[in-house]
Amino acid sequence: MDGPRLHPESIAAQALGWIDEATRAVIPPVHVSSTYLRDPDNRYRSGRAYARADNPAFDQAEAVISALEGGHEAMLYASGMAAATACFLALRPGDHVLAPRVMYWSLRDWLGAFAREWGLEVEFVDMAEPAALRAALRPGRTRLVWVETPANPLWSITDIAEAAAAAHGAGALLAVDSTVATPVLTRPLALGADLVMHAATKYLNGHSDLVAGVLVAREPSAYWQRLRALRVQGGATLGSFESWLLVRGLRTLPLRVRAASASAARIAAHFAAHPRVRELLYPGLPGFAGHAVAARQMQGGFGGMLSLCVRGGEAAAVATAAGVRLWKRATSLGGTESLIEHRASVEGPGTPAPADLLRLSVGLEHADDLIADLEEALAAAQN
Ligand SMILES: *Cc1c(COP(=O)(O)O)cnc(C)c1O
Repeated sequence: MDGPRLHPESIAAQALGWIDEATRAVIPPVHVSSTYLRDPDNRYRSGRAYARADNPAFDQAEAVISALEGGHEAMLYASGMAAATACFLALRPGDHVLAPRVMYWSLRDWLGAFAREWGLEVEFVDMAEPAALRAALRPGRTRLVWVETPANPLWSITDIAEAAAAAHGAGALLAVDSTVATPVLTRPLALGADLVMHAATKYLNGHSDLVAGVLVAREPSAYWQRLRALRVQGGATLGSFESWLLVRGLRTLPLRVRAASASAARIAAHFAAHPRVRELLYPGLPGFAGHAVAARQMQGGFGGMLSLCVRGGEAAAVATAAGVRLWKRATSLGGTESLIEHRASVEGPGTPAPADLLRLSVGLEHADDLIADLEEALAAAQN
């Protein structure tokens, strides 16, 4: 869009102000066609031929997300994992990549097994320690550094600007899984990252009613073109209806993220020194290890995700999750409904999640109701 850069609320509320030119509708139609008419002279002047390659249903969502991130272009995918794994599959066997020890579990699993079998040299490092990243980089050989901040399920913080400088110094790209921060709280491209990835399943859509992923590039590159070709040919494309729903969800993203962050901060403050809580992990708490970096690179809040380690070990944690009524026992995050999950039993052996950890995704209910429900469940679990 021309003119001065708009605030995220203005970009989101009007989804960039797109009007359907054919009907003057303020909300676009759902484009479901899989194929497009060829002109009589055998050319495609519309620029569209087949929906695996190019679907008008993607255009608005991709433009809105790219504008929110301050990027060059965005590409939607069939899931967050499809978007994330594409970044590695677009490399070549023998390439060296670095990933965090603490990160979204399914991707860590995929990198440790499939990506290695496929030929990537994958190394896991402590991304909260800039020195550890610098030591692990192999100039000229490391192609991609992957970070996640705040990172599941301990909410470890990586300094994006430091990581970008280190990666670039070694000739590598920096990709950031920014699912938890969202472009409302952090804009990794402005901090030097080359690529941002989101599980749009989570906050971007925000209503727990679709699975989608997205990549945003800071600038055009041969790697970005290769990613595009991989999406077209690999076929990890999002459906038309999901793309339409995603635009609807995006319209309220800034409001939802700020509300969830404010409630999460209240919940964290309430339970941080609670007698039934062993430790509370939330980047917004001044005592949290990554707080200073988070305060520098997150604006307007520390996100809606926190973890609570319950006194009494795994049994007490599982009993607490069993005792809640308002919180829903389910995986995923970033929806309007608050979720609670015993993370170690989901992740299995090798998880960095302590056995007494409950992961909380704070939704849009009143914080007082969420606090009261958790208080009751904690009390019942430990009696
Ligand atoms: C959910 C999630 C993913 C994977 O997204 P899917 O849409 O489930 O494939 C990746 N990273 C983070 C941080 C997530 O929360």
